[in-house]
Amino acid sequence: MTNSIPSISSTSAFVLQPLKVPKQLCILRRTSIIHLTCTSKPTPNSRTSMNGPRAASRHRKRSSYGSSRRSILKKSFNQEQVTFTVPVSHEPHVAVIGGGMSGLVCALELEKRGVRSTVFDTGVHGLGGRMGTRVINQQPLVFDHAAQFFTVSDPQFAELVSSWLAKGLIQEWQGTIGELEVGGRFVPFPSSPSRYVGVNGMRPLGDSLLSQNCMVNVVRPCWISTLEPFNGMWHLSENGNPRGQYDVVVIAHNGKCANRLLASSGLPLIARQMKRLELSSIWALLAAFENPLPSPSGAASFPFEGAFVKGVDSLSWMGNNSVKLFGSQKNNPHCWTFFSTAAYGKRNKVPQENIPTATAEKVKTGMLEGVEAALGLPKGSIPSPFYTRVQLWGAALPTNTPGIPCIFDPYGRAGICGDWLLGSNIESAALSGMALGNHIADYLQSGGLCPEEFAVGLHNEFHPVGGHDIGLTVPANELPALQLTP
Ligand SMILES: Cc1cc2nc3c(=O)[nH]c(=O)nc-3n(C[C@H](O)[C@H](O)[C@H](O)COP(=O)(O)OP(=O)(O)OC[C@H]3O[C@@H](n4cnc5c(N)ncnc54)[C@H](O)[C@@H]3O)c2cc1C
Repeated sequence: MTNSIPSISSTSAFVLQPLKVPKQLCILRRTSIIHLTCTSKPTPNSRTSMNGPRAASRHRKRSSYGSSRRSILKKSFNQEQVTFTVPVSHEPHVAVIGGGMSGLVCALELEKRGVRSTVFDTGVHGLGGRMGTRVINQQPLVFDHAAQFFTVSDPQFAELVSSWLAKGLIQEWQGTIGELEVGGRFVPFPSSPSRYVGVNGMRPLGDSLLSQNCMVNVVRPCWISTLEPFNGMWHLSENGNPRGQYDVVVIAHNGKCANRLLASSGLPLIARQMKRLELSSIWALLAAFENPLPSPSGAASFPFEGAFVKGVDSLSWMGNNSVKLFGSQKNNPHCWTFFSTAAYGKRNKVPQENIPTATAEKVKTGMLEGVEAALGLPKGSIPSPFYTRVQLWGAALPTNTPGIPCIFDPYGRAGICGDWLLGSNIESAALSGMALGNHIADYLQSGGLCPEEFAVGLHNEFHPVGGHDIGLTVPANELPALQLTP
């Protein structure tokens, strides 16, 4: 067994060509992908070759991914299924690609079950993915710029959340939130069920989750660009630089990145499920004001810290991070996060890495006007913020789901976790990570000898996700309350 697979230039063109899937393949329409994957299901032969180490070695030359690189490569262009036949190693190592809530919880669960993992994440500033917090150092200004808070409805998630509370990683957000209707009518939600936020923001929660773990290695910032099966292991690399070899891979991210990664990996069933996922786009406007916003028309004082907005095209949520995270302190700036609706996000979509200045200005103006409309205030009545930043979440939230906690392909020894498998919020992401971590641990414990028993979610149909544009059920009081035990 080698430590790294040969580089593209060091092997013959005949062998390597099939691995290079044309870029267009990543953007094939769904119908094409279905056709593609139907033709590449594991053949009965490749499955028979998995009936144990003996069978595997007998067929090694022809069908086992345990040794023949050529057989892998021959299949890649058509996304033929990778079938690992070597026995699972005694000290398995799992690669988790994505350090958002789902990937982090998956790694935690694997550790609980005695399985080593390495989490790779692209985050330059920290882990957490869509639990992002932006801190502008000079001030300091603090903004949660994706997930705002979370609620708990599942007993397993409640147990996890209790442990975060006990460690001081999260706090309850007791400020008033509710629904704000265009024109300034605000209806508060009851304070139950409890709402939670990370202490000092959501990202610090993501960064702290693995801090006391010894069986989880974190590699960041790192963008895994290639997955290749070789010698019974998954070989990962980042733009040509090897990032190690692993018994099992977990795809804990979604969207374009995941589709690209899976396009030529030899995991057609997983790739197909990922391709079915549809995501909304949402604009975030971060704005810091010297003073509190003017109260809605007719209100004696400002009535909320966070509000789901109804009836305004450019605005679906507004939340005051400063009061939420640090309480009301006189003379402190007020850092607000505003989110657009998904419809507005779609209409004004641009490449999120390269937002034209004119679009940024247009969106900023449109969203600030939306705030005035929501509060029922005349145009121009909100003082100019002294700091603003617009950001497009191009792949913000899932709009459809297979409604299954995780996906696992035991033949390819690869799984998927993420919010979209169950819904579109932090709780869904955590539950998915937990489910996949446990499932992989069970599979590894079984020695991988009866893979058919461990296939999960590879053919589930998708249905629309309900709830609000930012992934929470509204009104929040419809969520069942759970008592946490700190
Ligand atoms: C605008 C907005 C508002 C939201 N508000 C709320 C809210 O108030 N409450 C709530 O509960 N939920 C909210 N959500 C949803 C919540 O943020 C997500 O459900 C949850 O964080 C998803 O976690 P995840 O692990 O599934 O994915 P992610 O958080 O997206 O994690 C995936 C990670 O993988 C990394 N990655 C991607 N590709 C690679 C690669 N090739 N190599 C290495 N790393 C890679 C990404 O950088 C990212 O860090 C909101 C989301 C958005 C966008």
